[in-house]
Amino acid sequence: MTQKIVIAGSGFAGFWAAVSAMRAVSLAGKEGAVEVTMVSPTPNLTIRPRLYEAVLENMSPDISAQLAAIGVRHFAGLVEHIDSENRTLQVVSAEGHKHPLVYDRLVLATGSQLFIPPVAGFAEYGFNVDTLESAQRLDAHLKALKEQPETPARNTVVVVGGGLTGLESAAEMPMRLRAILGNEANIRVVIVDTAEEVGAGMGAEPARVIRQALDECGVEPRAGTRVTAIDAGSVTLSTGERIATNTVILAAGVRAHPLVAQIPGERDSAGRILGDAFLHAPAVEGVFVTGDTVKAATDELGNHNLMTCQHAMSLGRVAGHNAAAELVGLLAHPYSQPKYVTCLDLGPWGALYTEGWDRQVRFTREEGKKIKQEINTQWIYPPALDRDALFAIANPDFVIVP
Ligand SMILES: Cc1cc2nc3c(=O)[nH]c(=O)nc-3n(C[C@H](O)[C@H](O)[C@H](O)COP(=O)(O)OP(=O)(O)OC[C@H]3O[C@@H](n4cnc5c(N)ncnc54)[C@H](O)[C@@H]3O)c2cc1C
Repeated sequence: MTQKIVIAGSGFAGFWAAVSAMRAVSLAGKEGAVEVTMVSPTPNLTIRPRLYEAVLENMSPDISAQLAAIGVRHFAGLVEHIDSENRTLQVVSAEGHKHPLVYDRLVLATGSQLFIPPVAGFAEYGFNVDTLESAQRLDAHLKALKEQPETPARNTVVVVGGGLTGLESAAEMPMRLRAILGNEANIRVVIVDTAEEVGAGMGAEPARVIRQALDECGVEPRAGTRVTAIDAGSVTLSTGERIATNTVILAAGVRAHPLVAQIPGERDSAGRILGDAFLHAPAVEGVFVTGDTVKAATDELGNHNLMTCQHAMSLGRVAGHNAAAELVGLLAHPYSQPKYVTCLDLGPWGALYTEGWDRQVRFTREEGKKIKQEINTQWIYPPALDRDALFAIANPDFVIVP
């Protein structure tokens, strides 16, 4: 009887899990014995790392051709419920019909969602760049500002959160606002962060570089501060400062997708399942967790994957391989990703490229920017290749960053 792998999600982890699973089936010579189905709203891979950018083009490439090339079926819908005891999913199709979907192995690759702090007005008035739809909503709002009378609130953007997404959104914003409102407008961009210094989470040396870059871009930092309220025309900070603004961008971190809560097992503060070395959800049979839904050791030194596409692509390859390997009799492959880099876009200043978990500064300004542009336009896109070429780069050992 045909065995079934269901992959929930067509993001970085889901895409690579699909290719890697089919590669394993092919390696074992078991084509036809295992059917792989991917469930997601549409057969697209949204390039979330680019959603802070001013031009939102080619942000969600169609992966139908690649799925067809490797023989993976796409089911347009959302997984609503996971019955891990009976290995059955409840899926709501794009047309709104409920379908049961039985699996022998489930690969949960539904990613993460923006964390909305319990602060008055955040959910109602905050913008964000977490999904393509929300990034487009922000873009439409920014473009419409030019129709409004010039006021300090119109000209000011406040970014809440000094993590990578907040920093990239803030650094890009002065240039973006000027392009919309004109060079004469008295624009203001403020970044609010609870850390002692904006960028402190990256380490002392990167933080120094980040502060200089923000300064050159014209971004005002408010460190050691939290937002206590937002309304349609202002934000209030814990210091008592009130900033007039019509545009607040939330970037206060993400949490694992809510479906993860339906998988039994231990989880971290971001809601991720603590996966084993093979990316099983250890408390349940037949379920793999991958991408932003799992926390797993990247090495033997105590480091763990972060919620990044750099990790998701590798985690996807390993989870997909292992899901298929268990069904076709291949050896399972432990997850390992000792090399870690960050490349932070800092608007017209350039980009900051660091290596290692201690984030040693390697490239800055234009040199860093060249790497960022290569990452953002090539490395993270699903390659338009045929089956064999995709299989060649889908092995679970593939090194994302050489
Ligand atoms: C603005 C921004 C900037 C970032 N910058 C960087 C960066 O510079 N470098 C970096 O490495 N990472 C960055 N990241 C993080 C990176 O985008 C994520 O870590 C990555 O997308 C995680 O991949 P994933 O496959 O686990 O999940 P996702 O890419 O989120 O994919 C999840 C998939 O699941 C699908 N899905 C959701 N719900 C369901 C459901 N119920 N049923 C079925 N399918 C479902 C979605 O449609 C999607 O296809 C950034 C993120 C953002 C938002």
